[in-house]
Parts: sequence; structure tokens; C-alpha cells
Amino acid sequence: MTVTDLIRNEKDKTAFSFEVLPPVKGTGIDKLFSSIDSLCEFNPRYINITTHRNEVIYKETADGLFERRTGCRRPGTVAIAAAISNKYDITVVPHILCSGFSKQDTEYILLDLQFLGITNLLLLRGDKAKDQSGFVPEKGGCRNALELAEQVNAFNNGFFADGSQIKSSLTPFVYGVAGYPEKHEESPNQDMDIYWLKKKVEAGAEYVVTQMFYDNNKYFDFVERARKEGINVPIIPGIKPFSKLSQLSVIPKTFKVDLPQELVTEVLKCNDDRDVKALGIEWCINQCRELIDNGVPGVHFYTIGAVDNVRDVARAIY
Ligand code: FAD
Repeated sequence: MTVTDLIRNEKDKTAFSFEVLPPVKGTGIDKLFSSIDSLCEFNPRYINITTHRNEVIYKETADGLFERRTGCRRPGTVAIAAAISNKYDITVVPHILCSGFSKQDTEYILLDLQFLGITNLLLLRGDKAKDQSGFVPEKGGCRNALELAEQVNAFNNGFFADGSQIKSSLTPFVYGVAGYPEKHEESPNQDMDIYWLKKKVEAGAEYVVTQMFYDNNKYFDFVERARKEGINVPIIPGIKPFSKLSQLSVIPKTFKVDLPQELVTEVLKCNDDRDVKALGIEWCINQCRELIDNGVPGVHFYTIGAVDNVRDVARAIY
């Protein structure tokens, strides 16, 4: 089933879904499975699996010098997606990136996913490499999520990136894309951001998942602007419970989102991270209740470092 079918088939409650990261290289899959176990009681309709590009890593050698290497801290998205799908029989949505991948790399990933029967994707440009000042596409890679959508469309129509024909018949991929209630950091303004979002939807994206936000008005305004521009697909709010004092600066810096002053004031009154966690859960429950009351198509949770928090929130709202 596609993500949009899964959302629409949810009769009495707002669809619950969440995102997981592949385990850090060499740490095994057990912790990831126990995280999923703890969220299964809320009947997740689908689980997203992030993708991580190769990064430059400096490794200290025996003579005290540093060797520059390239590697991926969290490899294995396709295998993790297959493992989750086999173990839980839940729809999986691996993320496909431009960043760090050539079109040929992507093609091999698409072929693997076809063999595995995984056909729901989230298409993303991906962030810049940590050692670069701006996003640089991989040699022979897509420059943005729109180009990636075009590559997937061509694949669905039976063509590899070099124009050669795919011989076997395929189950077509269906996909969603990312949207930014507070605008993407590189976009000159919100109108341009919505302009490119509309292009991604016109290319074939069946739904949009948003970047996290802590002020629901940002989401409501974004949906209103998108609808005015003729973007009529479901726009699924992405939600992450606030959980640590350090996130006061980490979240704005990493995800380029604002924290509402009311939340900041309350966080600053907390004695320790236990208090912050409790506050973040309460804030998130209120956010989710208001979103659900306003008829959102689903609530998609970012679980990194916050599986227990997401469980507590889900317990309160489902
Ligand atoms: P795009 O849609 O390509 O947009 C990037 C920028 O270019 C925007 O400013 C846009 O307005 C502009 N733009 C778009 N198309 C064009 C065009 N044709 N010409 C000119 N400008 C254009 N990152 C990861 O590395 N791995 C993940 O697994 C991952 N998962 C994510 C999941 C979600 C739900 C979200 C919201 C983000 C995720 N990210 C992930 C982060 C994401 O990759 C970054 O935010 C990235 O900088 C932008 O990705 P995008 O797909 O939105 O890019």
C-alpha cells in the first residue's frame, strides 16, 4: 500500500508514523528493533528510514598524524528497510538522497528496492557534506529533489538514467517529498520555496512531510500558502519532542527552525534535563492535539534520541 492509501484508510484516528535512523556502523540492529517494539502498540502505518551520505573522517594514525578518509557513519538504509519490513510487516519508506550519490548509485538502490518489493520512497536532496560550505552535487548526480523525482519517474517509465531501457516490468515507485513551514534555509523567501515545492508535487510527489516545528501556526500558515498555490496533496506534519536543555541552540542550528518564546521561557525554568523532557512531552502532546483537532492527515514523529518521549506522547494522544 502507498503512504497516501495508508493515511486515507485510517478511519477513526489520525495516522501515526515515525522515522528511524540506521544504526551507527558496527553497533548492530537490536537497539533499533527494541525502539520499534516500544512504538508498535500505537499501530504505526509506516516507518521512514533515513539515509546518510559519505563524509570525510579524520582518523588518527599510530604516528600521531591524521589520515583523511571517506566513510558513512550510518550505512545500510536499504537493508534496514528490508529487515523492518520482514520483521514487522509494516510499510517502510527509505529516504533516497541526491547528496553523495550519482544517478547510477541511485539506480542501483532503486533496483535493490525493486527486488525487495519496497516501492514507497521519500525523495530528498540531502544536506551539504560537512567539509563543504554549500551543497555540491555528486559527479553525475542530481542537483535537487526535483531532478531526483524526474530520475525516479524515468525509472518508473522503464528507462535508466543513460536512456537505456529496463527489460523487466516494474512495480512503480511512489514518493513523497520534504516541505519547510519555516522555509528551507537556502531559499531566498517563502514564495520561492513553495514554488519549488509545487514543482516537486507536479512531478509526481503524492504527499509532503514537513520539517519539525514547535509552533503550530507555522504549519497552518504553510498549509494555507501551499493550498493557495494549488498544492493539494496531503501535508503531513513532522514532529519531534523537545527533550534537552542543549536543544535550545542545537535545534535551531541543525534544523533551521525557531523555538517559540513561551517554550524557551519554560525550558529556562527547568532544573535539569529530566524536567526539560517532561516539559517537551507536554508541549508535544498539546501540539499534536491541536493538529489532530484541525484534521491533519497524519502525525509523523522524528524519534532520534527521543523514542521514550514519542512513546509518552503517543500514549496521550492515541
Ligand atoms: P530540494 O527540494 O532540492 O530543495 C533544496 C533547496 O533548493 C530549497 O531551498 C529549494 O527551495 C531550492 N530548490 C528546489 N528545487 C530547485 C530547483 N529545481 N532549482 C533551484 N532551486 C531549487 N537529509 C539527509 O541527509 N538524510 C535524510 O534521510 C533526510 N531526511 C529528511 C526528512 C524530512 C522529512 C526532511 C524535512 C528533511 C530531511 N533531510 C534529510 C534533510 C534534507 O535533505 C535537507 O533539508 C536538504 O537541505 C533539502 O532537501 P530537499 O529535498 O527539501 O531539497
